[in-house]
Amino acid sequence: MPDPELTCVDCGGPCYPLGWFPSDGELEPGTILPYRCRDCLDRWDIVIGDEPETGY
Ligand SMILES: [Zn+2]
Repeated sequence: MPDPELTCVDCGGPCYPLGWFPSDGELEPGTILPYRCRDCLDRWDIVIGDEPETGY
């Protein structure tokens, strides 16, 4: 499942997905989900299923 909210690595503000909501259900692995930062309006493209879940 994609995160409904990410933290912007540039400004620390919240980033929200464009065109997707948690109520829409899961996305296919490999789907590119664009996020936009609320504070600096930077766009982040997140590939579903391609994020490192461990190693932090
Ligand atoms: Zn930002």
